[in-house]
Amino acid sequence: MSRFFSEKYKNLVAYVPGEQPRDQKYIKLNTNENPYPPLPEVAEAVRAESEKLYLYSDTECVELRKILAERLNVSAEELLMTNGSDEILNFAFMAFCDSKTPAVFADVTYGFYPVFADINMLPYEEIPLKEDLTIDITDYFGKNGTIFIANPNAPTAIALGRDEIEEIVKRNPGNIVVVDEAYVDFGAESCVPLIRKYDNLLVTQTFSKSRSMAGARLGMGIGNPELIRDLNTVKYSLNPYNVNRLTHAAGVACLKKDEYNIRNCGIIMETRDRTAKALRDLGFEMTESRTNFLFARHPAVSGEELYLELKKRGILIRHFSKERIRDYNRITIGTPEQMDALIANIKDILEEKK
Ligand code: PMP
Repeated sequence: MSRFFSEKYKNLVAYVPGEQPRDQKYIKLNTNENPYPPLPEVAEAVRAESEKLYLYSDTECVELRKILAERLNVSAEELLMTNGSDEILNFAFMAFCDSKTPAVFADVTYGFYPVFADINMLPYEEIPLKEDLTIDITDYFGKNGTIFIANPNAPTAIALGRDEIEEIVKRNPGNIVVVDEAYVDFGAESCVPLIRKYDNLLVTQTFSKSRSMAGARLGMGIGNPELIRDLNTVKYSLNPYNVNRLTHAAGVACLKKDEYNIRNCGIIMETRDRTAKALRDLGFEMTESRTNFLFARHPAVSGEELYLELKKRGILIRHFSKERIRDYNRITIGTPEQMDALIANIKDILEEKK
């Protein structure tokens, strides 16, 4: 830290993203990317759009919002596009939390939430998950703060049903409930159909996982037009051109062939369930995943050891040092071939431990 770094950030602990090795030698199962690249049409659209890079991007993302509104059965006024869903989440912290309305979230959830709170100097309350890593929805009834729920949760992979989230939203009429649906397309129920019914519900989604566009950074918020206006006030105060031209063009092209993404999600879910079974057969315990990753532990090998052993063998998975989940690893679902390699390597590691 330089002597010039602001005092207000002296205790700030930045978010630590998963490793992004520059070389291709690893099978990368550590940051929940989609293993299938976008269609060639996306690259073509980006190439064509690059001729217009001398012009600023469309601050309102009109074309993208129009297509998405149809897809999601909402209106364009109920949508705001952002630079990844991380950005809409940060906007929500900025717009809806303050010293009297702290952020409220689970003690094991997306690691960026406390960082968003800290950088904006906002207080937060962490609610412990139950012993089995599920959420007790009654813990979220009648809170005094802005609730953030990743559904499905990460890194636990467990999803609440829409009716359970609805109960939380209903029991907090004076608070905003933000439902982070980064992984919703892998078998969970979306809360988007509830946004007309509840003006205190904001849903966030991303193109990073189910639509193979993590590198383009495209996310969105879906909610009541008044909430979206508040979030736009934050956006226009920070970065009106938050979605660049290339990303916008990629998003439009990607949505025009959305059946490709839907099919890939189906393949990923099949691969997930097959991998989960194979790992359970090898003695792993794991949560019920509704995501594109597994959250698993093995009684004979620590989370850290498995992570290091796999890394030595060219496979990257994610291990968290947080006390409560130290035994676990988060394993992104890759292609069937990548998962076969994972399973074979894990078999070897377990064999060596005998
Ligand atoms: N929410 C959750 C729960 C996540 O795991 C992630 C991905 N790291 C995000 C939001 C943000 O994803 P992105 O900014 O790529 O949309």
